[in-house]
Amino acid sequence: MSAGRAPFSPEASETSCDGLFANCWRPAPPAALHLFGDPAEVEALRGSLLAWYDECKRDLPWRVLAVTEPDVNRRAYAVWVSEIMLQQTQVATVIDYYNRWMQKWPTLQALAEASLEEVNELWAGLGYYSRGKRLQEAARKVVSELAGQMPRTAEDLQKLLPGVGRYTAGAIASISYGQATGVVDGNVIRVLCRLRCIGADSSSPPVIDRLWAMANALVDRSRPGDFNQALMELGATVCTPKAPLCGECPVKQHCRARLRVEKELALASRKLLGKLPVVPDVEDCGVGGCPLCPPAAELWDSSLGVTNFPRKAAKKQPRVEQTATCVLERRGRRGALEYLIVQRPSSGLLAGLWEFPSVPLAPGLQQEQQREVLVDHLQAWAGQPVAAGSLRFIGEVVHVFSHIHQTYVVYSLSLDGDVTLDLASSPSRWVTEEEFRASAVSTAMKKVFGESWDFPPLHLLGS
Ligand code: SF4
Repeated sequence: MSAGRAPFSPEASETSCDGLFANCWRPAPPAALHLFGDPAEVEALRGSLLAWYDECKRDLPWRVLAVTEPDVNRRAYAVWVSEIMLQQTQVATVIDYYNRWMQKWPTLQALAEASLEEVNELWAGLGYYSRGKRLQEAARKVVSELAGQMPRTAEDLQKLLPGVGRYTAGAIASISYGQATGVVDGNVIRVLCRLRCIGADSSSPPVIDRLWAMANALVDRSRPGDFNQALMELGATVCTPKAPLCGECPVKQHCRARLRVEKELALASRKLLGKLPVVPDVEDCGVGGCPLCPPAAELWDSSLGVTNFPRKAAKKQPRVEQTATCVLERRGRRGALEYLIVQRPSSGLLAGLWEFPSVPLAPGLQQEQQREVLVDHLQAWAGQPVAAGSLRFIGEVVHVFSHIHQTYVVYSLSLDGDVTLDLASSPSRWVTEEEFRASAVSTAMKKVFGESWDFPPLHLLGS
């Protein structure tokens, strides 16, 4: 809930009041513990963080472009690509993808002209494939509907570009245009929750609203892009999830989680010595039912120290699914082994990517029943009768998507002679191993292929 639009209370509305808005219920303002109330402290924090960033920041290709690229549209595009790639993906993985992407499509116009197949091929292995697709759709929109001009504010970026949310819009606008707007990503959430002892569920709307307000208030007015990157860099390299390096932290003097740990330790040692506690009991905000404090039932865990913050609601378990998949191989015209890959539907999970023929399995099927399901599915592809007994069980490959725990039950089948494919049911093609690796296939399928190679390959067994 945003602080600006509080829920209306019927009781209050029947009470007389002095002004038009006086009888509207408003949430209690956050307690001082959770605020940056002192302007001098905010200035000091900005200064310490930026000085640290200037000295310690990692050299990353998108940071170089953000500083050196004189064309504002190109600069915004370069930041945008990096921000989309970095969502859910580690910096070390992204660097190579980013360099190849910018080499291939250095401008919005170049990306707009690419095919989705090319985009998927380059994105293959980066995960969350819809990101690449949506980036390209948005680039096409900028070229065709906005005359190639990137929207110039965070508000317009979010409003006009598909796939650009509040965070990405803030990052592009602050880093590329110097707009003084904050950003809130996972790293920023962690740092701010620790700096201000915010222990309520960090994915809940009141906490998220408070963090956005805090990020917007804290951002340095003269160097907003650097400040936002510094905050994220701090979360990525110093204020890490499990083992924060508080001793090396440039903003440790402003950190209330650290202060609380110190007080807890002092309290514990006095108790150990049998002395009465002169240190006040744990610092809490003093507001009953505070929406930013940890729930009363969740006790402080002294073994966790500052990592008591932030806290998240228990994660929903990914749903468990099983899929039978078959590495169909044949001897190609030029003698090389070839494998059949088929294209997934254009929407949904792994949209438009290529995979070995696969079929979801109902829970609880025995292996023989699984084979039958797969054989039925394969008849269409193979263009010839497939005997369940000719399928060779290879093993199981587990791949965890964000919300699905997927087990691929992998079989292989070697086909003899010329094979006619039913191209009507879905696009499909035969590829060599090299072509497979260059195709737009998911990481899960690469694992499946690797698994099939860990077994004595069928072709070496004399097909
Ligand atoms: Fe994070 Fe520790 Fe720095 Fe606080 S002092 S912001 S917990 S690294």
